[in-house]
Amino acid sequence: MNVKQLPPLFNFEAMEKTAVFSNGLTGQDILSVSQFDKDKLDYIFARAREMREMVERVGGTDLLKGHVLACLFYEPSTRTSSSFIAAMERLGGGVIPITQGVKFSSVSKGETLADTVRTLEQYADVIVLRHPEMGAAKLAADYASVPVINAGDGPGEHPTQALLDLFTIREELGRIDGLKIAMVGDLRYGRTVHSLTKLLLQYNVSLRFVSPEILRLPLNIMNQVIDAGINVRETHDVADVIENADVLYVTRVQKERFSDLSQYEEVKDHYEITPELMQKAKKKMIVMHPLPRVGEIHYSVDHDPRAAYFRQVRNGMFIRMALLAAVLGKA
Ligand code: ASP
Repeated sequence: MNVKQLPPLFNFEAMEKTAVFSNGLTGQDILSVSQFDKDKLDYIFARAREMREMVERVGGTDLLKGHVLACLFYEPSTRTSSSFIAAMERLGGGVIPITQGVKFSSVSKGETLADTVRTLEQYADVIVLRHPEMGAAKLAADYASVPVINAGDGPGEHPTQALLDLFTIREELGRIDGLKIAMVGDLRYGRTVHSLTKLLLQYNVSLRFVSPEILRLPLNIMNQVIDAGINVRETHDVADVIENADVLYVTRVQKERFSDLSQYEEVKDHYEITPELMQKAKKKMIVMHPLPRVGEIHYSVDHDPRAAYFRQVRNGMFIRMALLAAVLGKA
């Protein structure tokens, strides 16, 4: 890395030390959390802390100057798209933001998506893709010669969200091993739950899954949890888990995944985290949510210091800065 290009005041010594190690992510597609072992997680988290320190001290740097990111979103997004854009801009790179007005009907056959990524790679060094179909990021990666980062593929995975979620747990509570983590809401379609659960299997945690019957965790993921020897329970009631949880990970019911909207209506208001409920929780615990929330957490909980969801949002930018730098070989 070129230290001369960096702004004054900030000391990048720590960054330079980690830079001599190969991170194993350079030039790689980021499609699933299964690509991340503990070494890679520790590496990304260390880099994210450095990014945070750098942003807080000087705002940005030129690390990715001359690089361009294409942000291709076939589904709505606020946080993921903005944080990738902010991440790239704070690292001195450029962005092609295709986050509005994309029609995905013809992409469902694969053809247009393939052509789109083969077009974008003519301009960009990395493509971030969100798409309503599971497996779309893999398909795009098969066609693209530049790295593709999965920013959510339907009800499949959302690996960068899981990285920032795990990072948030680590930063807020100081550890991951030994924690009791309860996931609440739409565990069936919630891709952030799928990715975070898979990542947590590398740690010594207890998992509690709280959902209405029709929104239980998919069987294939539950089997992975059981095979990993994790202490796990399922319940329909938050009251069963609130007292012991170190992390309450709340999710929105994913309306857009329901073919029968009357089923959605039945379950949409199933849970609401309220100040009264929070009185039963530990003094040292956190409430997380990948957002957007549509009624699962009462606004008055926001004043509770245990409400970590907006700190979680901010962590997303640092994690994505670390990931972009790693994938583009500037690490
Ligand atoms: N923003 C997250 C996602 O894209 C969570 C959600 O939409 O409920 O998966």
